[in-house]
Amino acid sequence: MPKAKQPHIAVVGAGAFGGWTALFLRRQGARVTLLDAWGPGNSRASSGGETRVIRATYGPRAVYTHMAVRALALWKEHQQRWHRQLYHPIGVLWLVEHDEQFEQAAIPILRDAHVAFELLQGTDVARRYPQINTDQVRWAILEKDGGYLLARRACAAVLEGFQAEGGEYRQVAVQGPIQPGQGELTSITLSDGTRLTADRFVFACGPWLGPLFPEVVGERVHPTRQEVFFFGTPPGDARYTEPAMPVWADHGSRFMYGIPGNEWRGFKVADDTRGPPFDPTTGDRSPSAAALQIARDYLGYRFPGLKGAPLLEARVCQYEQSGDEHFIIDRHPQAANTWIVGGGSGHGFKHGPAVGELVARLVLTGAAPDEQFRLSRFAR
Ligand SMILES: Cc1cc2nc3c(=O)[nH]c(=O)nc-3n(C[C@H](O)[C@H](O)[C@H](O)COP(=O)(O)OP(=O)(O)OC[C@H]3O[C@@H](n4cnc5c(N)ncnc54)[C@H](O)[C@@H]3O)c2cc1C
Repeated sequence: MPKAKQPHIAVVGAGAFGGWTALFLRRQGARVTLLDAWGPGNSRASSGGETRVIRATYGPRAVYTHMAVRALALWKEHQQRWHRQLYHPIGVLWLVEHDEQFEQAAIPILRDAHVAFELLQGTDVARRYPQINTDQVRWAILEKDGGYLLARRACAAVLEGFQAEGGEYRQVAVQGPIQPGQGELTSITLSDGTRLTADRFVFACGPWLGPLFPEVVGERVHPTRQEVFFFGTPPGDARYTEPAMPVWADHGSRFMYGIPGNEWRGFKVADDTRGPPFDPTTGDRSPSAAALQIARDYLGYRFPGLKGAPLLEARVCQYEQSGDEHFIIDRHPQAANTWIVGGGSGHGFKHGPAVGELVARLVLTGAAPDEQFRLSRFAR
């Protein structure tokens, strides 16, 4: 029997979502061309930077707990396959002071998904982690399989794996806006003046999705300015790095979180509060004094031994925020052969492999995406 001709699929965007999608499409036998304007995990991309948290605690949003479990299995499998560490299993500690709704809602879902976790009393947290100020901490969830992932290096590893399995990569920008005609998209214009023809297209362009699809996506994905700070710990003091400390997440008056070891880049402190609108191409990435002050105040409160610690580095990134913080995984409403994938909303990175696996299946089988990921939800 002659083999059926495999489709040629163009994947635009080599970040956490596009890179893994390209890899899984290729593994299923498709001919895949992956394109990126600046490269996987570049400094403008939402997947740029050194590290990202992987956790399964998602309050009442069970879909992401289950997705995180699948993603974790795939992260583990791929770091073994590629002989490199991308996942640091140092645990994630959720500190509960006053508002416990999010963590309470997560507990039955974590159990249902067989996530390994412990419930700790405030006094247990104080005993295990004396470097944390636990005065107001009533209880905590310790996710044992949580931890952190290497971000930009994982994107580079995915690209290498994709190419090793026969995928083609080109560093080139796709010109927008994308306007499919006659029910499907047949080709896209590239920044080198050529056109690329393919049978199917996946656009995983993170915070750039809005301008690429002004009518279909537009403001439904809006980039917000997010700042991350890296503080210096005392010389030789191992209390503030792995394995002495897990990643922590703190639902106090603001949602603050951080990564202690962070690949020796400093004690990472980040504020999950959504910042002002941000242009991912031209936006100035100088850190702001106001955000630094918030990080310093928080650091001094939660980790008294680090009060006044020197700032080592700072990064300005952006969340590609969807209105409801659910991802977008859907076909273009006017082009059945074109898929739009994004809206990571500050929590997408960890899910990269699970999203890639899912999108590859949808694109190859034509199956319908889940309601909660579809663009039509915004019309309601
Ligand atoms: C500060 C910060 C902290 C975060 N923390 C976490 C965390 O702890 N855990 C977690 O799971 N998630 C976290 N996230 C969210 C997560 O990083 C993102 O949701 C995820 O990386 C988004 O991946 P993406 O592939 O959709 O987008 P991107 O990584 O932005 O990739 C899009 C790619 O498309 C390319 N591109 C865009 N337009 C074009 C074009 N026209 N032509 C060709 N290429 C194009 C870009 O160059 C880019 O490489 C965080 C995000 C930020 C900013």
